[in-house]
Amino acid sequence: MLVLDGKIASAAVKATLLAQTQALKTAGKRTPHLAAILVGNNGASETYVASKVKNCEETGFESTLVRLDADIAENVLLEKIIEFNNNPLVDGILVQLPLPKHIDEAKVIETINPSKDVDGFHPANVGRLVQGLPTFIPATPYGILLMLEHFNIPTKGKNAVVIGRSNIVGRPMSILLSSNIPQGNCTVTLCHSHTTHLKSICAQADIIVAALGAPNFVTGDMVKPGAVIIDVGITRVEDPTSKKGFRIKGDVNYEEASVNASAITPVPGGVGLMTIAGLLKNTMKAYEAAHLS
Ligand code: NAD
Repeated sequence: MLVLDGKIASAAVKATLLAQTQALKTAGKRTPHLAAILVGNNGASETYVASKVKNCEETGFESTLVRLDADIAENVLLEKIIEFNNNPLVDGILVQLPLPKHIDEAKVIETINPSKDVDGFHPANVGRLVQGLPTFIPATPYGILLMLEHFNIPTKGKNAVVIGRSNIVGRPMSILLSSNIPQGNCTVTLCHSHTTHLKSICAQADIIVAALGAPNFVTGDMVKPGAVIIDVGITRVEDPTSKKGFRIKGDVNYEEASVNASAITPVPGGVGLMTIAGLLKNTMKAYEAAHLS
């Protein structure tokens, strides 16, 4: 069984990006710049943003992190986004989700200039994705495509099951896997909280992408011999024996699934690292588009 190691695949993506930023520096040019906005102090969001900033540094990108209080007025956030939209030295803008309840997430996403929307959440970019046009692919599905590419996992003609239909993972993933692209051309079933017979649907899958946020949801009996298992789930579960007091669990029971799977992503160390690789690649694309136009 092949472990789809996110450390290995993301290191390869980052090495290519680092070579690109070094070449830019040698030519006396500035490098891609990602601006991240974090509202409030949600523990998981803090960790994700810190990791994104650190990865920018490691690949020679510039980064700016703006922290706003949890109770700021919505228009303060929108104004900050507009400031970044208008700043030619910022290539990519990221607003870490989730946002506090009093802020309209859709409005925030729609305020980001689509050409700087490196998370790929703007409706204009989602529309382009659906139509198979060049766009920013949301970072997690993009990371999964990069992972499949790195490990040469064949997808053409395969039965893929995606569990979860969120705008950031499940739905775009289902569209991409069914698209006519190198890591696509699957026959896709998109499962969600109202799906009946989910276990038997999964048991017929050549590829399962689990993105629902329920630890150990995918059990051994749902994994067909030879299936490829992509575990997107990240849930913090209490663990008094760990220094942090919690442990990260995926949506797949790794031990059980490994018995039949031909390839599987670990959690942590799998899709999470690829998400950052996807984000960095999108930021480089935004930079290149701005400099070629
Ligand atoms: P979400 O809560 O927005 O969506 C969950 C989806 O799962 C919903 O569409 C729902 O219909 C479906 N679902 C819930 N219970 C179900 C059930 N019993 N059976 C079938 N479907 C069910 O979640 P999200 O933002 O897409 O995130 C999903 C998981 O992925 C979370 O654990 C999240 O932390 C993780 N995540 C990881 C990364 C990464 O980089 N690895 C990135 C984003 C999200």
